Formats: sequence, structure tokens, C-alpha cells
Amino acid sequence: MAATHESHPLAFWRWQLHWQALFGIVLGVLLGYLSGSAAVGDAAGLGGRWEIKLYDLVGDLFMSGLKMLVVPLVMTAIVSAIASLGQMQGFARMGGKTLLYYVCTSFVAIMIGLTLVNAIAPGERSGLSAEEAAAAVRTEGSSEATAMAELEKKTAGRGTDSVLNVFRELVPSNVLDAMARQKMLGLITFSLLFGFFITRLQERQREIMLGFFEGAYDIMIQMTFLILRFLPLGVACLIAQTSAETFAGGNVLERLTQLGMFAVTVLAGLIMHAFVVMPLILGVLARVNPMRHLQAVAPAMLTAFSTASSAATLPLTMECAEERAGASQRVTSFVLPVGATVNMDGTALYECVAVLFLAQLSGISLDFSNQLLVVVMALLTSVGVAGIPSASLVAIVIILKAVNDNLPDGAHIPLEALAIILIFDRLLDMCRTAVNVLGDTVGTVLIARSEGEHDILAEDPGARQARLRAEAG
Ligand code: ASP
Repeated sequence: MAATHESHPLAFWRWQLHWQALFGIVLGVLLGYLSGSAAVGDAAGLGGRWEIKLYDLVGDLFMSGLKMLVVPLVMTAIVSAIASLGQMQGFARMGGKTLLYYVCTSFVAIMIGLTLVNAIAPGERSGLSAEEAAAAVRTEGSSEATAMAELEKKTAGRGTDSVLNVFRELVPSNVLDAMARQKMLGLITFSLLFGFFITRLQERQREIMLGFFEGAYDIMIQMTFLILRFLPLGVACLIAQTSAETFAGGNVLERLTQLGMFAVTVLAGLIMHAFVVMPLILGVLARVNPMRHLQAVAPAMLTAFSTASSAATLPLTMECAEERAGASQRVTSFVLPVGATVNMDGTALYECVAVLFLAQLSGISLDFSNQLLVVVMALLTSVGVAGIPSASLVAIVIILKAVNDNLPDGAHIPLEALAIILIFDRLLDMCRTAVNVLGDTVGTVLIARSEGEHDILAEDPGARQARLRAEAG
């Protein structure tokens, strides 16, 4: 176990961040197993157990701690990067590269999903029909019925056209509202302009403003370090809660057997994307050692896995990309917040596999035009999906509606069939969120390399981070 300082090997708070996160995950699974299995015979169920309430509280505090940092961190990082460079030149070029990378990699992820779901055909092997899957929703009080009712509320009135709403966020009509609702695109626009106009101020005012934003950014970095001290604890509590629910709900395990091939298809796709496509991009295009990069961003991936939220993970992703993976502050502060909003490779892949799986369950074989529709819709909706847990389910409903409108008369995929993957969503959500975050960091390094703003990692990422921290005092 690599420690950053000389210390007792069991002093886990000195371990490198990825080992700390991994430790938290293993501990969380263990705690969740103990609570979940104890709750099986307990009449009060999981909700009545004090330790679950504690995990819930600590997990929420950790998530809130991370989310609390997102807006001020992103804004101060962008403003101070632009104001100190003294120019906005090159941002249009960087924006173009970012979008090109995001569109291409999401497309590749969708094509991997499409190929696998057609080849494996999990819906034809599950031994379940769409009608049976939908029946659970009609059982009053079932967990599927509750989950579906919530999803219907979220998707009410949303159709294909709502997909483009994300572009409206580019210019916020109220910047405080954009901050409150963590609308990244609007905040990025505002911060870019703010930073740029600082450079146009008279010298005295400029120095004051620059000093203020650089100082504020350093404070945000220190606060990120503070929250990271709680990484193993936060991760353990989040995982304990999720795994307790899984172990306590016999229903979920039963679903696992019915949905085994679906899960295998999704996981195989995610693994191919994360461990074949991404390393190829790193090795061939960015000329960076993929293993070093994976090690550098592992804390962010593991936190994304535990929180199932790429938005909440953003402070840690920025920290890993800059201090451990060697990208510059200018590139990191622009590419990552955009990525956490619009680039979701894992989500895009999942949406495609889920829609085709539900079509297969319904005995409908989608022709070329419908599969193309799914690909295009998955690409567009993955842009609009929020970086929060289970967000892609909303997108899947939108795609299903579009496919149903395009199917010949009589053919129909029942939306309620989605219930079968609803209650089983968390584990796959954790995996796809980790892939989403990995995709963002690979894009950051690739763009930083192309801009000449990346240090090739000659040293171990953890040691580099420790050195930079020591140098910063
Ligand atoms: N949970 C994912 C994320 O935060 C979004 C999703 O696919 O549901 O990136």
C-alpha cells in the first residue's frame, strides 16, 4: 500500500486518495451487508435501523460538502485563470476541441452499446415479457409503482424538443438563479466574461480583482482538501446505504437474475469504453501513459462510483486532473465543468442499451431507421442529462416516446416496462457515472496536450500531488 509519507501502514488517512476511496467502498459493502441481512428478519425493516440513519446522515453531509464547493470553485478557477493570463484568446479554439471530443467519444460509446445489445440480445434471453415487467407497476404499493410514479412526475410534458433546452442555459437570465441551481453552462459563460473584463480594468483595480479571485480560488482548493479528508468515511456511508438496500431487498436480487444479461451487456460496454477506447485515446492521441492517468484520476472515479453523481464529484475531478494528472488550470477549469454537464459517455451507452433491451422485451425488433433514431436521441439526451443519480431514466422515457411515435401502428413499447430496470438502476448508475467522469478527464488531458498545457507524469500521481501541496505550503 503506497503511503505518501513515512507512516504506519495502517494509518489509512495517510494512504493515497484512491486507496482511501477503495477502503471506503469495501468497508461500505461490509457494513451494508451486515445491516441489510439483519434487516431481512426485522419487522421494522431497514428504515427502522439507527445505523442506516447514521449512514444516510453522514453520506448526505459528504455529498453536500462536495456540492457546496462546485459553484465557487468553478467560478473562481475560470475567472482567475483568464484574468491572470490577461486574454481570452484561444477559448473558442478550446471550446471547439472540447465539443468535438465530447461528441465523438459519446458516439463511440453509443455504438459500442448498440453493437453489444444487438449481439447479446439480453431482452430475448431474460425469460420475461414487457407485459410481465409492466405488471409490477400496476401492483399498488410496490417499489416499482412508487419509483415509476416519481419518474412520471419528472418526465411530465417533456418530449423530444425539451432535449435542446440545455442550450438555453448557455446565457443565464439570472446569474444568481444559475448559481443556486448549479447550471454550469451559464456560470461558465458569465465567468469567462467576468474574467475577461477584469483584464480591461485600470491597473490598480485589476490587481485588486485578480488578487481577490486568485485568493478565493486558493481558499476553494484548501476547502476541497478539507472535504477530501472525509473521503473514506463519506464513501463508506454512501456505499453502506446502497448495499444495505440491495441486501435487504430480496426483490432486487431476484431482479438481478432476470436482468443478468442486461447488466452484463451494460457492464461489458462500459468496460470496453473505459479500458479499451479511453486508453487508446490516451496512448495514441494524447501520448500519455494510460495506467498513470487511471491511477491519477482513480479517486474521482471511485467517488463518482460511490455518489452516482458526476456533478457532485466535480471538485474532486478538477483536483485530480490538475494536481495528479498534470493538466493546466486554464484547461481544467473550462473543460471539466462543461464535461460534467454535457459529456456522459457511460450514460449515452446505457440509454441506448436500455431502450433496445426494452424493445426486445416487447418482442419488437427495431429496424435501421429506429436504431438510428435511438443513436441520435441518446447522443442529444446525454447532453441534457443532469449529473445526478438516475438522471438518465428521464432521458430513456423521452427516447421511448420518440421511438413509439415512429413505430408502425400496433407496435408499442410499454413505458411501464421501464419499471424493471428502475429499482435495479443504482449499481449500473454508479458504474456509468465513473465512466462519465473518466471520459471528462481523458478529454481534459487530450486538450491540455494539444494546447501545450500538460505535464507528462514522470512521477507517481500521489507523490506529485503531495509535492505540489508541500510547495504551495
Ligand atoms: N448519474 C449519472 C451522472 O451523474 C447520470 C445518469 O446516467 O443517470 O453522471
